[in-house]
Amino acid sequence: MKRSNTKNSYPNWDIRESIKAYDIDKWGGKYFSLNKKGNITVSPDGTQDNNIDLLQLIKELKSREINPPLILRFNDILKNRITELNHVFEGAIKNYKYNNQYKGVFPIKCNHQKNFIEKILEFGDPWDFGLEVGSKSELIIGLSLLDNPNSLLICNGYKDNNYIEMSILARKLGKKPILVIEQIDEIPRIIECVNKLGDTPLLGIRTKLSSRSSGRWENTTGDSSKFGLSIPEIMITIKELEQANLLSELQLLHFHIGSQISDISIIKDALQEASQVFVELSKLGAPMKYIDVGGGLGIDYDGSQTTSSNSTNYTLQNYANDVVATIKDSCKIHKIDEPIIISESGRSITSHCSVLIFNILGTSNINYTIDKNFNNSNESLIISNLLQTLEEIKELDDTEEDYSKIIELWNDAKKFKNDSLATFRLGFMSLKERAFSEQVTWACAKEITNKLNVENINCPELSDIKDTLASTYYGNFSVFKSIPDSWAINQIFPIVPIHRHLEQPIFNGTFADLTCDSDGKLNNFIDNGNSKSLLKMHSFNNEEDYFIGIFLSGAYQEALGNLHNLFGSTNIIHIDITQNNNYKISNIIREDNKAEVLKKFDYSTEELIEKIRVNSELAINANKLSIEETRQLIGHIESSLRKSTYLSE
Ligand SMILES: *Cc1c(COP(=O)(O)O)cnc(C)c1O
Repeated sequence: MKRSNTKNSYPNWDIRESIKAYDIDKWGGKYFSLNKKGNITVSPDGTQDNNIDLLQLIKELKSREINPPLILRFNDILKNRITELNHVFEGAIKNYKYNNQYKGVFPIKCNHQKNFIEKILEFGDPWDFGLEVGSKSELIIGLSLLDNPNSLLICNGYKDNNYIEMSILARKLGKKPILVIEQIDEIPRIIECVNKLGDTPLLGIRTKLSSRSSGRWENTTGDSSKFGLSIPEIMITIKELEQANLLSELQLLHFHIGSQISDISIIKDALQEASQVFVELSKLGAPMKYIDVGGGLGIDYDGSQTTSSNSTNYTLQNYANDVVATIKDSCKIHKIDEPIIISESGRSITSHCSVLIFNILGTSNINYTIDKNFNNSNESLIISNLLQTLEEIKELDDTEEDYSKIIELWNDAKKFKNDSLATFRLGFMSLKERAFSEQVTWACAKEITNKLNVENINCPELSDIKDTLASTYYGNFSVFKSIPDSWAINQIFPIVPIHRHLEQPIFNGTFADLTCDSDGKLNNFIDNGNSKSLLKMHSFNNEEDYFIGIFLSGAYQEALGNLHNLFGSTNIIHIDITQNNNYKISNIIREDNKAEVLKKFDYSTEELIEKIRVNSELAINANKLSIEETRQLIGHIESSLRKSTYLSE
């Protein structure tokens, strides 16, 4: 079934309605919008001659045989985010007459992809942007890719002697690694390495703050947090460093109160406490030069500008202002030189630049047209009751202000449906009768929604009608690979069809992924400071592509994604947006094929094929399989191994 001319089919619908329905103007900012064709557009800076049509881009990728699911990565948005972060700090420094500079670092764990780190260093180079590492593998990336001698390399995480020695030697090489002491037992190891190599590392201390954090990462602060030194431990550290003649290398104080801090007052409290610790360290004789305020700078995923966990009640500029002003105040009171300010913002820099695109493979729509030919030959009372209920709903006056009659009838319908289930279970109802009773129940729900707009009325007794009629959209992707935080920590991302926005989305739906796991679904959507379980969706038919985008998904998802059901990495396409609404594909990272994914679990493809071949020979001998069929089977397996782990057309 082809859709007819969409423009005329929905007289009450245009892109303004769609922007409202999906809050695109709220979370999309200057980067994402809708064009006149009803397609989502992407722009690095919100200017008219600098935006591209996502649908067109995906179609052109498809004609190059690069198919969804895929990650689109917009280098220009990444550049814009890094530039803005540096600009807001420059602005705050100027505004508050702060007597030092800002030097950001990028926490590698947010996205390890080589091309990504290279781009960050390229775009951040004018501001000597550096890196933050939290493991030895990340340290090796940092040492290798960070060339700017003025950029910092902040070394966090657990450190063994190997880690410590690498950082000491890298300092001799001309890099600027700062070893941040996170655990008290790192000090003897540092002293041991210093004695062995005869050289010292630059040192920092990570402090545990007692200020509260909030939301998902609440446990990152406080006495029982996993990281950082308590105040008594800091006192011991100072003493030990002094004795080992290393206090002169202690230059940095670091704290990190968790990711996605929604409420700026929490950031302010932490800053105040940390600034005092900084001042005290200076007074104790450490030549303190840097204060590192960690990550936590949040993303307004739902655009509500609230303290909900999916939002933030502050802007980038608010954040920079508070950081700079608070540190300045503490230094001023205690007459201490203002330090270089470092922040480790990962989420804030990377979220906007990536969009995950997947296509819909099919839907399960509720069938609420009842079978006219159904013959209630058993004269089942339950079925008669259900049909009676349906008739009564149909006869209701739709201008009725009072919902009590509708509620009563809907409760009746649900009760009769439950009765039919019980009767079926006991063997007194046939499968056919059960199917019919379910259809009549759905027809009742549909009839109610025809009478009144269930979405707009605040009536808890009828709220399950929407869920009853919801459709499942089957998506060509894996939640576990591509959007793991939605499964692991219930994080919500803006999810929007990337086209058809001239058409009214008349269905309510959820998404199911390709995995055989009941958790492989998306049923939590942004809703202006809250969340909702159903998303507005368009009708689906097999003849037309229907593409869905998961936006603001550039932080953390790639490294956290796993191989559940052996769905591998997707294609990643790096796009440069050029003038006059054009674009260039600057880099493609190919998806995992099946052979590559199998290899990670120690399967050799040759061995797998060989075993099947041996089995086939036995089957040929037993006359179960022909030689031609064997050839076909092996052919399918061999070509499939070289191809995507996802579904193709
Ligand atoms: C994860 C992490 C960050 C990044 O936090 P965001 O909230 O993504 O900015 C920064 N610093 C440290 C120490 C971290 O562990």
